[in-house]
Amino acid sequence: MEQEIKTLQKWIDESDNIVFFGGAGCSTESGIPDFRSVDGLYNQTYDYPPETILSHSFLGKHPDIFYQFHREKLVCPDARPNAAHLKLAELEQAGKLRAVITQNIDGLHQMAGSKKVLELHGTIHRAYCARCGKHFPEDYIHYGEGVPRCECGGVVRPDVVLYEEGLDEHIMQESLDYINQADILIVGGTSLVVYPAAGLLRYYNGKKLVLINKDATPYDAKADLIIHGPIGQVLGQIKV
Ligand code: ZN
Repeated sequence: MEQEIKTLQKWIDESDNIVFFGGAGCSTESGIPDFRSVDGLYNQTYDYPPETILSHSFLGKHPDIFYQFHREKLVCPDARPNAAHLKLAELEQAGKLRAVITQNIDGLHQMAGSKKVLELHGTIHRAYCARCGKHFPEDYIHYGEGVPRCECGGVVRPDVVLYEEGLDEHIMQESLDYINQADILIVGGTSLVVYPAAGLLRYYNGKKLVLINKDATPYDAKADLIIHGPIGQVLGQIKV
């Protein structure tokens, strides 16, 4: 891994147009489990798989179970940014990194100090009424019992993209633009099998596609540099 890190360091030293695209693996080192991973817990305690519970129709039909899951599994008040989040914020501060594009909804990049964060799947740190659109503070949905409701009677929901829902077109377009114009694209902590991850990579035109992931991904053959390791451990070694 040492030689790969040296190469990555050299590329980073020479660039002021780095874009990072990250997935669930960025947050696991902060203690936030990836609900898609096999050993990742969520199995067994619920009668439905996570992908079902976190869907648009399920929230409509069973808001009580949705909120039980939300409070038990998605709200992680103790999670703190790890070495990957911190390094990315540092790289942005140094004028080297242009944007972080993330599939995570935990807000840890912002907590680490990153300013330009494009959240493809929204964030659990915002909430709104599904009926009238009124905004609510996040605590309104994170704590307490039962289903949080608006004065209008509508269910208040987290501002995340659920299964069966489309991505925000503006955020998607902005992400594509950053990737399209990037000198270095670092992809970390994602297996690149979940929509829209793999599709986004096709917009990259550069010659420095870096994949940092614990396991192999379907994109390894297309990468210019592959580092197999935990993202925090890898980026933690980079000097800004
Ligand atoms: Zn309302």
